[in-house]
Order: sequence, then structure tokens, then C-alpha cells
Amino acid sequence: MITSKLPQVGTTIFTVMSALASEYKAINLGQGFPDYPMNEELTELVTKAMKDNYNQYLPMAGYTPLLEAIAAKVERLYTTKLNAQAEITITPGGTYAIYTAITAVINSGDEVIVFEPAYDSYIPNVEVNGGKVVRLQLEYPTYSINWTDVQKAINPKTKMIILNSPHNPTGAVLSETDIEQLRKVVEGTNIIIISDEVYEHLIYDNLPHYSLLRYPDLLQRTFVCFSFGKVYNCTGWKMGYCIAPAVFTKEFRKVHQFNCFSVNSPMQVALAEYLHNENAYLQLAPTLQKKRDYFRSLMAATPLKVMESHGSYFELYSYEGISQETEAALSTRLVKECGVATIPVSAFYKDAIDNKALRFCFAKKESTLEAAVERLVKFNW
Ligand code: GLN
Repeated sequence: MITSKLPQVGTTIFTVMSALASEYKAINLGQGFPDYPMNEELTELVTKAMKDNYNQYLPMAGYTPLLEAIAAKVERLYTTKLNAQAEITITPGGTYAIYTAITAVINSGDEVIVFEPAYDSYIPNVEVNGGKVVRLQLEYPTYSINWTDVQKAINPKTKMIILNSPHNPTGAVLSETDIEQLRKVVEGTNIIIISDEVYEHLIYDNLPHYSLLRYPDLLQRTFVCFSFGKVYNCTGWKMGYCIAPAVFTKEFRKVHQFNCFSVNSPMQVALAEYLHNENAYLQLAPTLQKKRDYFRSLMAATPLKVMESHGSYFELYSYEGISQETEAALSTRLVKECGVATIPVSAFYKDAIDNKALRFCFAKKESTLEAAVERLVKFNW
């Protein structure tokens, strides 16, 4: 018999919803992935790398030119100088980077502060390592952090705080005031930070991204996790990286080397070259903001109310006063009866808190957004 390490965990909502979407031939605005093609030059670079024989293992930490290209990009964007070999590790995706960072440092009984709604892997990642999750609620409906709550939650067992900006599922972003507050609460402690910044380049409304990479004092206690999939429209590549101080990276790699060992070679070689193209990532925000705004304008014809959001692939829409159904029930009915898949925000709360809001992914072709909204407009709310 097996004693489950995660007895309360079921199948992730993204898999559940995507399976339902395909069963009911629904338009999938649930799981976050683009439905438009990725950049052809980048796929050609992968083919070239394969033909050039980059088909065997690369170094465990990552392909040196890719590590150096990331360091150069970080310096360009945030002025921080990294030691590419000692502080950057290439990973199979952002989720893996977060899991590995947690596994590298969390011991049994350590407390980890997680803000809800939380990306659904964080809590199980902590619990599988014997850590204790301390859940704090982001303030509804702005989804901002209540720093007084954070201060109150901190005690000698607090080992880690997990941050995520731009935030999944809400699209909320951290401000400079949040960074100051963060600095205050961690000062004089040994608290480690994980900063999930997979939506780094998906930030709108002319807001800057307050990456923890900008702050050397905070960076020295932080694992910052990134995803190439979100930047280059290739979520299925499962490519990402983690930036952390050398002492953290050393522990990170102890776990990584016996889990994945090294990451896909041709893709690393291709990304090393493509990363020098600044336009490819700087154009992402305006492109996606256009999609978000277009989706918003279409959604105005439905009874749903858009909630404030400034980043990521997602926007929340409230159906308060429109239906009494739970988010889980309504999102299931929408797939089956309306032909549109969304994600219930309650899936990002351990206690399934239900604010009557659904998450929509707008990283889709205009025609997909139009077809989905046409169905939502016709739906009998
Ligand atoms: N990050 C994606 C989302 O929020 C999903 C990733 C996954 O399915 N594991 O939709």
C-alpha cells in the first residue's frame, strides 16, 4: 500500500479543464497557452542546432552561451551584474524551477507564506517537502498584499515567502511600495524569497516590472524563476531558468542534477542565439496588451464585469449578481453548454473561496476571442 504524500491533491485544474474543453469541443480560454504560432526563426534555430549535432547532454547547469546571454539580458534590463556560471540554472520550465528551489531549502516544519489565490503548484510543492504553508489572502478585489498580515504571520519558523508578479490568476502586479514593504518585513531575518516572474514581459498599461533582480539586497535571499515558454509563445517547450545567489544555486543544483540532470540541448542552443534579439521580448507587452484590450472590448457585450489587471495572459471577470452558482459549477456548465472553457478562481484557494470570478486567457488569435465571446453573448445567463 502507498501512503500518499499529498492525500488532498487531485488533478491540476489546467489538465481537468483542457480535457473537458477537448471532450466538449469548447474554445479553450482556460489553460494559459497561446493558440498562434511561435516565431519561425526560433524553430529554425532549433533545427539548425540539431543538424549541427547539439544532440547530446549539455552541462548540468546549462549551455554556457545561454547562461551568458541571460546574464547580459538581466544587466540590460535591470542593471544587475550576475555571475552567469554560478547564479543561473536552466530548467525544464518555470514550475520545475519553483519546485526545485522549494525542495532545495525547505525542511520539515519550516513555514512558508503563500498568498492566495495562488498558482496551484506552490502549496503541494511545500507540503511534499514537509513544510507548513501559511496562507494569506490577497485583498479582494485588487488582489494586493496586506503587509500588516505578513508582518503578523512572521515568526522564527518562517523560512520563505513566495511572490508572483505579474500574478497568475489575477494579473495583479507588485508596486514599488510592495518592494519597500517586503524589504521591511524580511530585514533582520533569514527569510528566503521565491519570486515567480514567469510573466516578466507580459506587463501592461506602461507599468514597469519590479523584478527582484533590480534589488541586490533582496536578490541575495531570492530564487527568481522564469519561463521561456511565456516569452516565446512555446509553453510546450517546457524551458525556463532560475536565478539565485551562488550559495542558493549550489543547493538548487544538488536537487536538479539528480532529477533532470540537464535540459534539452538544441533548444538551449537556439535560445542562446535568439535571446540577443531584444525586439522579440520587448514587443511582447504591446502585442498582448492589444489582445487584452480587444478581448475586453468584446466582453463588454456580455453581462460579466472585468476586474482590474495589469499583466500575465489572464483577466478575471466577475459574475456577481448574475448567477448564484459556484465558480466550479459555472465553469463546468460553460464548457458543456456554452462551449467556452475558463478557469474557476476558487481552484487557486485551498478552501475553494468563491468570489464569483472566472479566469480567461486572452493570449489567443483575434478570431478565437471573437468566436468565444460570440458564444458567451448568446449564453443564457
Ligand atoms: N501556467 C498555466 C496556467 O496558469 C498552466 C500550466 C500548466 O498547465 N501546468 O494556465
